Amino acid sequence: MDIVFSRLGDNEARFVLEGVSDGFANSFRRAMMSEVPTLAIEDVRIYDNTSVLFDEILASRLGLIPIRTDLSTYRLPSRCECGGAGCPRCYTVYTLSVEGPCMVYSGDLVPRDPAASPVHDRIPILRLFENQKLVLEARAVLGKGKEHSKWQPTIACGYKHYPVITIDDRCDGCGMCVDECPRGRLANGKGKARVIPERLELCLLCRLCEKACKRGGIGSEPAIRVDEERSRYIFNVEGDGSLPVREIIKEALLHLKESTRSLLESLDEIAGGTSDEESE
Ligand code: SF4
Ligand code: SF4
Ligand SMILES: [Zn+2]
Repeated sequence: MDIVFSRLGDNEARFVLEGVSDGFANSFRRAMMSEVPTLAIEDVRIYDNTSVLFDEILASRLGLIPIRTDLSTYRLPSRCECGGAGCPRCYTVYTLSVEGPCMVYSGDLVPRDPAASPVHDRIPILRLFENQKLVLEARAVLGKGKEHSKWQPTIACGYKHYPVITIDDRCDGCGMCVDECPRGRLANGKGKARVIPERLELCLLCRLCEKACKRGGIGSEPAIRVDEERSRYIFNVEGDGSLPVREIIKEALLHLKESTRSLLESLDEIAGGTSDEESE
């Protein structure tokens, strides 16, 4: 298995994964979305809410605010030494006290742990009018995207097969495929269409170029063919800022490794049990 990164920033990554099956590529994608824990607000104690918004809608909005997460500081409640009862290792607290008229933003939440502040300060929560007030305390815990999407660390996470484009000798350089390509993936040169190598990964696999070529009257088969390379994938991952994308990728791979190890141990146990029974 090979991974080659063409982009790796704090919040986005693009890379080519090679030498794996469709099943592995999809498991990897799902692990990044659903198995990497992040902090999100789970419990809200509302002391005063004279705004026009119901408490339940307000709590739901608070839960969707991305929170900076340090996985070396916090643990999942189910794996915490407190047994999930609640301790500083498995939850953190925010207070909010605002009087109108004003817009209440995510930055108005005052965190007990400054390292676990909202990723963005200007996410609007609600508008308070004259004489309206909002006072609350919120508790954030680690959770996984498979329980609720508010714990997903990614806002986009997908892959496609690596494109393979071939142009045969029937091409007369009419340029119709070049004009049709929405990604500027093709160009004309020396009386024949050609592929621009540095834009290869941008190809949408939409096959509009094939259709344009056929419309030009070349026959039932186009001179340009778009195929997909099996076992080679282009991944695009965009994080919500709660964790660096590098950490999302690493944690997802560790999850897959751990799941595989557990499965192997279970198989060993079953095999051991079977041979014990047979020898009796
Ligand atoms: S498949 Fe679509 S994006 Fe790719 S080269 Fe053809 S027209 Fe362009
Ligand atoms: S549309 Fe077909 S014939 Fe025209 S340039 Fe493209 S591949 Fe060549
Ligand atoms: Zn705890």
